[in-house]
Amino acid sequence: MVRFATLMIGLLLGLAMPVDAADPLAKQLFGSKSAPSRQNPAAFGGYSKGCLAGGVKLPETGATWQAMRLSRNRNWGHPEAIDFIKDLSRAAARQPGWNGIYVGDISQPRGGPMLSGHRSHQIGLDVDVWMLPAQRLNLTRAARENLSSISMRRAKGAFVNQNWTRAHHEIIKAAASDRRVARIFVFPGAKVQMCKDERGNRAWLRKVRPWWGHHYHFHVRLACPRGMRHCADQNPPPRGDGCAEAQQWVNNILNPPPPDPNAPKPRKRREYVLADLPRQCAGVLQSP
Ligand SMILES: [Zn+2]
Repeated sequence: MVRFATLMIGLLLGLAMPVDAADPLAKQLFGSKSAPSRQNPAAFGGYSKGCLAGGVKLPETGATWQAMRLSRNRNWGHPEAIDFIKDLSRAAARQPGWNGIYVGDISQPRGGPMLSGHRSHQIGLDVDVWMLPAQRLNLTRAARENLSSISMRRAKGAFVNQNWTRAHHEIIKAAASDRRVARIFVFPGAKVQMCKDERGNRAWLRKVRPWWGHHYHFHVRLACPRGMRHCADQNPPPRGDGCAEAQQWVNNILNPPPPDPNAPKPRKRREYVLADLPRQCAGVLQSP
């Protein structure tokens, strides 16, 4: 009888308390760090499940860029991402109507999951670049909180709108042509437009991937830097320019196929605790 009672209590406790109920969520741990770890720069894990050692700050203002939404403190990245942003901003500044770029989120100082917003951007290799042409580069902190980017899309992303220009094409092309870049996410109508407008080499289009959202900014994902052993690359995009696939996506926006009755129910993802991340992430958190 005693054994039975113990068993029942154990079962009840087991049911009521998931094993990790006492553990803080990884997003709380990483979201509370305001400075990078004093370690050599390294990306640990994958874009949506990892962390960043030795993060480098994108200076809030440069000759050809400004970091936006400074209150979020997400202008931290792997040094290769910071270099890339500076290079891209100089290319953008050569486009008519652009004096550089406005940079949205990169990562938190130590990367990792965030309290709000993205699922990716965890290892200092994802960068959001605003579609709004950067004209003024002397915006105040307050202006950088309040200014909004502009949408480029029409018809739920099937087409670009009148805000889209050849300069957008050239800037995304410059990003995609950079060998450090693995892929770029942008709404499907923009990809199809670039597919139509490109008259030269089309190889760069392979890296431009249609995705939901991404009409106020495009998202650049860098490949794992050379020799970075614990950084997990994504599989490369399929061969070819991907234009037919993007067109199919647009067709589905315009004429949505009937819902698939056999489609699996979307499952809610469990929030990560520290133990879910690569083991090096504990060291990243503990480092001074
Ligand atoms: Zn993004």
